Order: sequence, then structure tokens, then C-alpha cells
Amino acid sequence: MSVGAARVRFALATRNLGKIREVTAIYGHLEIGWVSLMDLPQIGEVAEEGATYAENAAAKARTVSSASGLTALADDSGLEIDALGGSPGVHSARFLGPAATDAERNIRILQLLQELPDPKRTARYVAAVALAHPDGTVHVFEGICEGWIATRPSGAGGFGYDPIFVPRGETRTMAEVPAEVKNRISHRARALRAAEPHLVEILNMPGKDRPAGSAK
Ligand code: IMP
Repeated sequence: MSVGAARVRFALATRNLGKIREVTAIYGHLEIGWVSLMDLPQIGEVAEEGATYAENAAAKARTVSSASGLTALADDSGLEIDALGGSPGVHSARFLGPAATDAERNIRILQLLQELPDPKRTARYVAAVALAHPDGTVHVFEGICEGWIATRPSGAGGFGYDPIFVPRGETRTMAEVPAEVKNRISHRARALRAAEPHLVEILNMPGKDRPAGSAK
């Protein structure tokens, strides 16, 4: 991910390419040069031991901000399925263990919900987005996208559980809708929109990390 000439550098605390694509697209109109964990290999994995998305997002953002010296944005998110008591929830990335693929996780969920009628297949995506500053302050913003679990996987867009999640108001799965639609209605899009005024405030702070000679 290259840093544009007149852009403020922010760290994006993830190695998930799906999240990187979405965050950079949703904030494409802002003058931010993103540096993801792909560009910061010296920063290892941040353990996700919190009980909530907010705690995990704040921990990831704080760790990456202090290690990079940049303002850092982290997303912690998951899929909550009502018929499974809210699982996989905060454990969504680790559901079925670290070696499982997204396709295997999706097939397992479809098996668990087999024969369940449509009205009982309700679910939601939840995201917490944390912004951490090198001085240690952290702000967290949340977004939810309601929907239901399909009866079979469809579509090749997005990532993770998108082939089996149908957002409310849609007949297509999140993997079938165009990226522009996902980036308007998703949990992540909502949390990022809530965070945007705070981000803009940071961008407008005097002395932000801009390359010399930049217009702003
Ligand atoms: P974490 O935030 O790194 O703990 O991982 C969140 C996990 O939740 C991802 O690995 C996916 O399995 C799932 N997830 C979160 N957001 C999405 C999404 O937008 N689409 C599909 N799956 C998602």
C-alpha cells in the first residue's frame, strides 16, 4: 500500500486483505496514506483476548499505535447467529480452529442450521472500530448490519462469512452484492462512518505527520 505524496500516514492494524480493501475504499475520499501490518512485519500478532469487539479493537489499535508511532485504526468484528446463541461472535475468526478455511466455517454453519426455517435464521455482523493515538488515547465506534443466514453459499466477493450472510433488504448474499453496496451497508461501513468526524479532526490537527512541502 503506497503512501500518497500529500497524505497523513495512519496505521491500519490488520493483515486481513478483505478488511484492508474495505477500509481504504470507504475512506478513499480522505487524504490518508495507510500503512497496514503487511508493511510493518516487525509488529507481531496482537492477542485477541477481550470479551468484546470494543476491547479487542482498542487493544489492537493501542499496540499498533505505540509500536509504529502513528495514529492506528483497528477493526474487530464478527457474525452473531441467533439460533447459535450469538456464536461465533467475537470468536468468528477462530471458529473451528486456526487451520480451518472460510469455506469450511461456512459449511459447518450451514450444517448447524440445517432444516431451520427462514424466520429463525436471523443473524448480524457487528464491528468495533478503534482509533488510538500515540499518546495512548483511544476512541471506539460500533456498527451493526442485520440479516440472515442463507441455505447455501453464493458469491465470490467480500471475505469470511459473506457467501452465507444475506443483509436485511437484500435477496443476494454479501458476497454477491457489488463492493460499493457492501461498503455502504456493512457493519464496518457503519462503524467507519461513525468514526469519520473524529478522523477528520485528527487530519486537521496542526503538526500531523505530513511530508515536508505538503499543501495541507
Ligand atoms: P477479527 O476482527 O480479526 O477477530 O476477525 C473477524 C472475523 O469475523 C473475520 O475473520 C470473519 O470471519 C468475520 N467477519 C468480520 N467481518 C466480516 C465481513 O465483513 N464479512 C465476512 N466475515 C466477516
